[in-house]
Amino acid sequence: MIIVMNNSATDEEIDFVVSRIKEKGLDASISKGTEKTVIGAVGDERLLDPKLLDNLPGVEQALRIVKPYKIVAREWHPEDTVININGHPIGGKNIQVISGPCSVETPDQMKNAAEGVKAAGVKLMRGGAFKPRTSPYSFQGTGFEGLEMFRKAADNAGLPIVTELLDVRHLDKFLEHKVDVIQIGTRSMQNFELLREVGRLKVPVILKRGMSATISEWLMAAEYIASGGNHNIIFCERGIRTFETYYRNVLDVTAIPVLKKETHLPVIIDPSHSGGKAWMVAALSRAGIAAGADGLLVEMHPTPSEAWCDADQAITPTELKELMKELTAIANILGRDIAK
Ligand code: PEP
Ligand code: MN
Repeated sequence: MIIVMNNSATDEEIDFVVSRIKEKGLDASISKGTEKTVIGAVGDERLLDPKLLDNLPGVEQALRIVKPYKIVAREWHPEDTVININGHPIGGKNIQVISGPCSVETPDQMKNAAEGVKAAGVKLMRGGAFKPRTSPYSFQGTGFEGLEMFRKAADNAGLPIVTELLDVRHLDKFLEHKVDVIQIGTRSMQNFELLREVGRLKVPVILKRGMSATISEWLMAAEYIASGGNHNIIFCERGIRTFETYYRNVLDVTAIPVLKKETHLPVIIDPSHSGGKAWMVAALSRAGIAAGADGLLVEMHPTPSEAWCDADQAITPTELKELMKELTAIANILGRDIAK
């Protein structure tokens, strides 16, 4: 069961609800979000009557939720959640595009990439300083030096940054560099310790879908983050593994309406890692936005053929600009706005 407290609930009121839950032999886990505090009652729910909790001071609603995810479920939060990324809203009517290179390479490359992002009217920039590569002998990223390069280039262009966190030991430096959105990659979706750590923060998190994860596993991974108090979670569908070998992964467009039904949190797609080829990016992006996605995470490189990582799938700054035009038209038909 979850007990949703009023925005103005006091610590005493929260403690009182917790004591009621404990009296019945259940455990209470408190998740303090920026807007609301949610208390999860864990244990034999049959011993707890939601009506008794409903009437306690400070309680907005007590709900029996049978699903294994609660805070991320639409059941307790019927409206779409809008997440604010340094003044840029995502979710609800607001579509956001996040673009930049797969990996941070050099100051010049990042400067040119930031200019490309700006010129296309994109408001948020991506770039990986730490790269999770299949082979230990492949380029592993430029690390903290890269993070610094990224921060500088993005600051000069006035862009918030999105970058992948691979290891909990890097977290302090990420916070020092004021990373605006932490990306949890497909290979880390079930790294529960990593999820718990970002769950203690308020920094928005992009949670990519594990390449073979079910929707339910993905939602439960998000619940790990949410249960720690960080409700600023953005789901990212990045293509799943199937029997098909023509392309890198299969963009699971079906997951978009399903997630929209199951969760109130924003859902974006990554058309780059889905198809693995630059020429597929526009088509997959259009499909994602048409299906109701709240944004894109798309790889763009100032000179794709020279990219140190994922060169095949990077689009050019000019292609990004074109794509923004097409997506704006689709968004408008759907009565939505694309930040530009
Ligand atoms: C990335 O976005 O740079 C990345 C490595 O993606 P994924 O985790 O989806 O493979
Ligand atoms: Mn990549």
